[in-house]
Amino acid sequence: MAAACCAALAAAGSVLLPNTSAYNQTQASYWSLQESSLSPSCFAQPQTAQQAANLITILTSHQACSTTDFAIKCQTHAPAAGFANIAGGVTIDITGLNSISVSEDHSIAYVGAGNSWLDVYAYLDPYNKSVAGGRNGAVGVGGLTIGGGISYFSPQVGWTCDTVQNFEVVLASGELVNANATSNPDLYRALKGGKNNFGLVTRFDFATVDITRILGGNLVNDIADRAAVFAAFADFTTAPDYDVHASWVLSTIFNATSKAWTLLNVPVYTLPDTRPLVYEQLYAVPNISDNLALTELHVLANQTATPPLNWGMGTATYGVSTAFLNEIFDIVNATIYDFNLPGGVAWSIAFEPLPTVFLAPGAGKNVLGTTPADGNQMIFLTSPFWTDSSADAEVHAKTEEILTKVNAAAEKAGLLRQFEYANYADYSQQPFEGYGQSNLEFLLQTSKQYDPNGMFQKRVPGGFKLPGGQWW
Ligand SMILES: Cc1cc2nc3c(=O)[nH]c(=O)nc-3n(C[C@H](O)[C@H](O)[C@H](O)COP(=O)(O)OP(=O)(O)OC[C@H]3O[C@@H](n4cnc5c(N)ncnc54)[C@H](O)[C@@H]3O)c2cc1C
Repeated sequence: MAAACCAALAAAGSVLLPNTSAYNQTQASYWSLQESSLSPSCFAQPQTAQQAANLITILTSHQACSTTDFAIKCQTHAPAAGFANIAGGVTIDITGLNSISVSEDHSIAYVGAGNSWLDVYAYLDPYNKSVAGGRNGAVGVGGLTIGGGISYFSPQVGWTCDTVQNFEVVLASGELVNANATSNPDLYRALKGGKNNFGLVTRFDFATVDITRILGGNLVNDIADRAAVFAAFADFTTAPDYDVHASWVLSTIFNATSKAWTLLNVPVYTLPDTRPLVYEQLYAVPNISDNLALTELHVLANQTATPPLNWGMGTATYGVSTAFLNEIFDIVNATIYDFNLPGGVAWSIAFEPLPTVFLAPGAGKNVLGTTPADGNQMIFLTSPFWTDSSADAEVHAKTEEILTKVNAAAEKAGLLRQFEYANYADYSQQPFEGYGQSNLEFLLQTSKQYDPNGMFQKRVPGGFKLPGGQWW
């Protein structure tokens, strides 16, 4: 049946069939092995928003497609199997929706949803403008923005989704609509965190920010000095006068074969300042290497691609204290130290500041449920990566064990928060529940309004679905 559906979809544009080099290339382009191991019956590749709308119309109304489920694929950085690919169904690959332009006064960037952030930054840097998008340039505009989006500019302007002025989106009916403050305002709000539950977004219109050169790079410390780095990070994240140009990803990385921990800091400052005062406490800790330098965003975002690997993610949000950061390290170390796999496994355990200034612009305007009233927080992200594809269940169990133990410690310390960032969540987590009851009800209501037959709930099984979304 899916083969007949693929044949019907060919009327709306390019369709790639198995055993062709174009199909194999697209399948191999997934970031995780879990995703590239799935074989759809075809990839459909719209090149325009209207072609995307025609595809959805055929999927909804053509007899040959009535039982064919589908997935939406952007730049593939959600690692879980089935989030952006589907075995035996149709995968709509939107990477051909890659237009980029800027308004005459350069205040709005019109960005095709299939772009990578790298292409967006390379286009905008010459204008001395940017958008508050992802930090690794290979990540997709589509997936990151509809899940929230953490940017170097977030302390200044909020989540990436908060900077969207307009979404162009194909609804389940096949209708192509705009969602903004005055047109479809409920949909506009729902798409700011609602993931792929409301439609296929074809274009984002982002408010731009000013940029020239920025400070970026890596600063590596000895793991033995972690307590001093954790103290600096906690003070940075909870500073009463948080510097909105400053961000910092603190990662502790464990190699289960060598049993070695690495402490990697990525402090980025969005102004051309070679030694911002805000990092003085970090600089004061002796480091092993420091390549921080002024650069352009499209250069900084052009990170080396990783080889094909299995990847996991898992996340939580916590209040911040130095003692708790030390406790987390000890818990994680005790949990994973003796766990290894044939071919090895490594863990990135990362901390990212979520200060109140970051949460202010979108509070009540997106559906994430994050507000300055929650105080300064940090996002915890655990990402294992490994080669042995048969070990998924074992690694997943370890990820859950880490989250369970660290969450218990957080709860005991009064530092556990309900928000779980969907773009970092493990497939077994329920990020929408962390948005809070009223946002959840709003999402369900908006889904009923714009997708009365629940097509994006039932026939797009990949990604996080709305809990209670099976109401029809
Ligand atoms: C190396 C790496 C770096 C990262 N850096 C950051 C970062 O700096 N900041 C941050 O916030 N997050 C970051 N993330 C997390 C990232 O935001 C998520 O993984 C995100 O889902 C990736 O989006 P994508 O388009 O690349 O992925 P995909 O896997 O292609 O898509 C992810 C999900 O979004 C859906 N989707 C994508 N586009 C659309 C669309 N146009 N319409 C409807 N549904 C759509 C897909 O169906 C899928 O379920 C990073 C992840 C990785 C692996």
